[in-house]
Amino acid sequence: MAYLRYRATAKVLCGECQKLKEQKRRFDTKCRDCKWLRYENVNNLLTFRDLLNNKFPNWVFFNVFRYVKGQDGERLASYQKGKNEPTSKEV
Ligand SMILES: [Zn+2]
Repeated sequence: MAYLRYRATAKVLCGECQKLKEQKRRFDTKCRDCKWLRYENVNNLLTFRDLLNNKFPNWVFFNVFRYVKGQDGERLASYQKGKNEPTSKEV
């Protein structure tokens, strides 16, 4: 059985951008205070989403890549908070 492993990157808004988003106002997508998280060992998209909700509630979207050691694997999926969140643990 193949071991399921993904690499994931998630965009997390800073307090200022989060406030603008909640007011449905435009925010700077290149803001330097917002951050990108990178995880190398994601094997369940549902628990990954839960982890973001618990630890980084300001996340806005995350991308999922095929894990390839030392390389950027192809992007498999992208999920947006509150819009198209993962519905199963795999892509
Ligand atoms: Zn920001």
